[in-house]
Amino acid sequence: MAKLYFRYGAMNSGKSTALLQAAYNYEERGQRVLLAKPEIDTKGADQIESRLGVTRRVDFLVGPDDSARALFGSERDRVRAEADALIPGERPAEVACLLIDEAQFLSPVQVDDLFRIAVEDGIPVMAYGIRTDFRTEAFPGSRRLLEIAHSLEELKTICRCGRKALFNGRVIGGRFVFDGDQVAIDAATAAASDEPRYLDQYRVTYESLCGSCYLEESGGVLAPR
Ligand SMILES: [Zn+2]
Repeated sequence: MAKLYFRYGAMNSGKSTALLQAAYNYEERGQRVLLAKPEIDTKGADQIESRLGVTRRVDFLVGPDDSARALFGSERDRVRAEADALIPGERPAEVACLLIDEAQFLSPVQVDDLFRIAVEDGIPVMAYGIRTDFRTEAFPGSRRLLEIAHSLEELKTICRCGRKALFNGRVIGGRFVFDGDQVAIDAATAAASDEPRYLDQYRVTYESLCGSCYLEESGGVLAPR
């Protein structure tokens, strides 16, 4: 039976690199894969970008209200039609795997779609994403993945102190911040369009931190209530 896999980690744990490597491994064996990501991640538009410099365009983007299963179904039909148009056996007619980047930005309903693609449509789904936001709370998509994925795998990265990073600190203008919207990946672009000189002041970056360094930076506060 096909399964839903969730490979999660802090920022900079190499999730996109791992995804692109998985795609490559399938294709090296002559198999077809489909790549997708949520539309909300404006960082790379329709590209999956690895920090090592490898980029690749996704086959489809999932909008906030889209059915991930319906989108996948259309793409799967396209793959089959392409294979039919060729000499039999020249290209595989079935999708071997669906790979999703930035899966934390999917809605819980869309994660349920991924589960159905695996269990009811029989296609393995590998979702890659961040577990928690900058306030240590789960993204809705990640929470659902942690609840229903058949397989969980942590991709590890190191805090500045050398311990395993657990959390994602948000840094704006060189300072850690612990208030704000859950998603703030595009603030620098928005600010830059008006006043370029404010770019650095508003640039949002993230640093992967261990529990100890996170509490040190936050003054002892975990998720504010
Ligand atoms: Zn640390």
